Amino acid sequence: MGKFVVIALGGNAILQPKQKGTAETQYQNIYATCEHIATLLKSGYKVLLTHGNGPQVGNILLQQDEAKEVVAPMPLDVCGSMSQGFIGYMFQRAMRNVLKKNNMEKEVTTLVTQVKVDKNDPAFKNPTKPIGPFYSEDEAKKLISKGYDMVEDSGRGWRRVVPSPNPIGVMEEKSILQLIENDNLVIASGGGGIPVVEGETLEGIEAVIDKDLAGQRLAMDAKADSFVILTDVDHVYINFNTPEQKKLGKITVAEIEKYVDEGHFKAGSMGPKVEAALRFVKATDQPAIIASLNSVLDALEHKSGTIIVPE
Ligand code: ADP
Ligand code: MG
Repeated sequence: MGKFVVIALGGNAILQPKQKGTAETQYQNIYATCEHIATLLKSGYKVLLTHGNGPQVGNILLQQDEAKEVVAPMPLDVCGSMSQGFIGYMFQRAMRNVLKKNNMEKEVTTLVTQVKVDKNDPAFKNPTKPIGPFYSEDEAKKLISKGYDMVEDSGRGWRRVVPSPNPIGVMEEKSILQLIENDNLVIASGGGGIPVVEGETLEGIEAVIDKDLAGQRLAMDAKADSFVILTDVDHVYINFNTPEQKKLGKITVAEIEKYVDEGHFKAGSMGPKVEAALRFVKATDQPAIIASLNSVLDALEHKSGTIIVPE
């Protein structure tokens, strides 16, 4: 099997729940992630990385809101680009330090990435993705009068919701492929990419693309040999969090689709991962893997993790 892999990193590769999120903490988490990536490079894999940005873009939005009387607040697409830049910078610095420690040499490059969405995507009529800070009911009402969509989020306060449209193409695809061709470790499409709509001009959109679905788009367009989603569980489970839970190892598209229909994978967490993996396998006839960062090498060798294969 070929050794070019696209890896989508979950939120915990950058910031773990309950951590405060100082620059130092995020750098240390990213450094640990880069050590795993280095073992893949040593084993001869070519890697294209993408990552989530939920907590980071949430904090950037909070900063916009807190400082709005002194500095013009930036819209969501611009905040997304800020998060891609800062997370990418941390990966570039950490990866160079890890490479140096291992006496390896490689160019490491982050690309600010725009991802195309369809302006007629039904998601625009039904915003579902909660983002940013929590607001009181009074504040929420003011924001609603300014045209924001706000929902009450399970008793914790009001939050803005934005559409989560389907990714249909990566604007910087050619540049990404050229960088890979030139042996770069590339970090692209962070946070699912910055959603843009192409009409007469290209416009940034206030929306959030699911990072696993965007990663699938990238993996398919870049013709990866496999698409790997790394998260904080080592396998996909059926009957998850019940006494009957059972981990899935190597499994065919038809078998896992049956479990999808039975409702084993939660929307907003494992659901989009399984959906992204299925889209990849069906479009390319190549395997998709859902596993944890600690076992990524074993997973690539099909010895661990959930491996979805055509049949
Ligand atoms: P990431 O930041 O990696 O995208 P998510 O929290 O979105 O992480 O998704 C991973 C989580 O999905 C796991 O921590 C687990 O709690 C949850 N999950 C929901 N259903 C399942 C399932 N059937 N099997 C395994 N994990 C599941
Ligand atoms: Mg997620």
